[in-house]
Amino acid sequence: MFKPKAIYFEKNIENYELGKQLLEKYKEVPKVEIENHNNIEEMRNKQNSEFMDMKRNLIIGIRKTHKFVENHKTSDYLVPYTSSGCTAACMYCYLVCNYNKCAYLRLFVNREEMLEKIIKVANKSEKDLTFEIGSNSDLILENTITGKFQNFSKRSFNFSNQI
Ligand code: SF4
Repeated sequence: MFKPKAIYFEKNIENYELGKQLLEKYKEVPKVEIENHNNIEEMRNKQNSEFMDMKRNLIIGIRKTHKFVENHKTSDYLVPYTSSGCTAACMYCYLVCNYNKCAYLRLFVNREEMLEKIIKVANKSEKDLTFEIGSNSDLILENTITGKFQNFSKRSFNFSNQI
C-alpha cells in the first residue's frame, strides 16, 4: 500500500468532498501547499536521479483543463481524467524524461465536474461515443487511495443506462 512521504496540495481542494476526505486521511503526513499541480517548482528543480524520492509524494489538485483529444483508433476521445502519473518507478518507464515534471502521482478531486463534461458531450452527440479514460489515469491505482472506484462504476453504469 502506498504511503506518501508528503502531500503537495492545492488549497482549493478543501472545497471538494474528496479533497477534504484525503486531507483528513493523511492528516499525519507532512503537507506542502502549492499554487498549481502542473508547476511545482521544487520538483522541477530536482535532478532526475532523485526521482525515486519524488515518487514517494502524492500531489492532490484540481484538473482545470478538460480537453478531450480525438482518437480514431480505440475510442472517439482520449479523456485526461481523475489522475496522472503513478507511484511505481520502473526503470524502462516512457516518462523517463519527465520524472521531475509529472511522473509522480497526481490525484484530481473535481471528478464530478469531469464526469459531467463527458455526459454533456455524449448527450449532444447524435451517435454513441466511447470515451477512453484509462490512457492517462490509472483508476485502479487511484482506488487504493480514494476508494472511489465503486461509486464511479455505479455512476457510469447508471449513465450508460440513460443513453
Ligand atoms: S507509468 Fe508505467 S512504466 Fe512508468 S513507472 Fe508508472 S507503472 Fe512504471
